[in-house]
Amino acid sequence: MPKQARLSGIKSLWCYKIEEAAEVSGVSPRTIGNWIANGLRVMNGERPPLIRGDDLRDYIKGQREGRKIKTALDRFFCVRCSKAQKAAGGFADCNITGNHVTLTALCEVCETVVSKPIVEARIPEIARTLDLTIKRHEKTL
Ligand SMILES: [Zn+2]
Repeated sequence: MPKQARLSGIKSLWCYKIEEAAEVSGVSPRTIGNWIANGLRVMNGERPPLIRGDDLRDYIKGQREGRKIKTALDRFFCVRCSKAQKAAGGFADCNITGNHVTLTALCEVCETVVSKPIVEARIPEIARTLDLTIKRHEKTL
């Protein structure tokens, strides 16, 4: 299990950058990016993306309650749109290198390249919503 995110330091009326949100909730910036891809709200049009404290708190509370957001698997966080978007055309490349699996696609809205790490075991599940092109790479030492 990943370590529990902290709620205590998050100020509801504060706006956090991804790094700050990670710091205050005790997780990595990459985790915050995954949360955004999974439905954590970011403020529209802000670059870098800003997250409201109350949205962050709601998201963490929702996770604790085991609430699942169904759209998560086929969404990617687009830096240019500052929010989670679908893959253009429903296509994604699935790059497997050793134990690392990365999905890469184009943002449905602005066609920026978007990507996210996934767990290899979830590929069949993801393949139900996205048309995956699986590429295995030799690990170079
Ligand atoms: Zn976009």
